[in-house]
Amino acid sequence: MVTSKSIKQIISNFSNGKYSHAFLVETNNLEKCLEDIKEYIKVINCPYEYSESCSRNCNLCKLINLNNLPSVIIIKPDGMSIKKNQLLEVQEKFNTKPVYSKFNSYIICNAELMNESAANSILKFLEEPEDNIIGFFITENKEQIISTIKSRCEMIKATYSDDKNEDENLVEIATTYLTKVLDDKRLAVNKEYLLPQSLTRAQIKKIFKQIFNTYLSYINGNYFPGNILAVKNNLSLSILKQQLIIITNTLSMIRFNVSIELLLDYFVIEMRKISD
Ligand SMILES: [Zn+2]
Repeated sequence: MVTSKSIKQIISNFSNGKYSHAFLVETNNLEKCLEDIKEYIKVINCPYEYSESCSRNCNLCKLINLNNLPSVIIIKPDGMSIKKNQLLEVQEKFNTKPVYSKFNSYIICNAELMNESAANSILKFLEEPEDNIIGFFITENKEQIISTIKSRCEMIKATYSDDKNEDENLVEIATTYLTKVLDDKRLAVNKEYLLPQSLTRAQIKKIFKQIFNTYLSYINGNYFPGNILAVKNNLSLSILKQQLIIITNTLSMIRFNVSIELLLDYFVIEMRKISD
């Protein structure tokens, strides 16, 4: 699931027929950025209607996931720098049209570590772009990228919130969500509260883990600060245990390829049934 807004944007541009041959992506998180770019590469190459679950049934997406598709080359620094021969290898391999995919793609991580001769050797791709080659230069500091590359790329910024902030945010969402599920039974809480936040599957899983922990600590009588109000005080232990089973079921189903919407509806309906 793509989490960067700017990469979501270039995906939607692509579906409208617009794309650049080279992108310079400035990011504060190289790993997440690389994952998002791989999603982009799946979208532009997938022979089927690309969907989040495509990798389960489509060989091409599976190979991209595993970094095993010959037409996708990911370059990382070799020691302290990215060397000329690493880029010459890309040139050589991309001399021919891709066999299985629509595009040949290269991703250069820490692009600021290209020395001058390495950078010059990739300029050919940027100066005479071929229709079926798309490249990404990822960097944490675009000021360190040599200007001949900078001037020939579409520049985008992929910013990610750090995990600690994200986790705190998810705890807050979990607490509010649980209160809404239990307290206002008329509320279509998924449609009106949770789904509009367009969370990833992994984030929803974290929310349910948090709910699980809230229940456990309630049952054990060990409240965490901030959690006390989330679970109603008048629920009996037997009700809590039954709800805990629903939470556990929901958590284990997230792992499978079930629709998140259906799963959340199951959760809310079952939880409300029991607290009646
Ligand atoms: Zn696919």
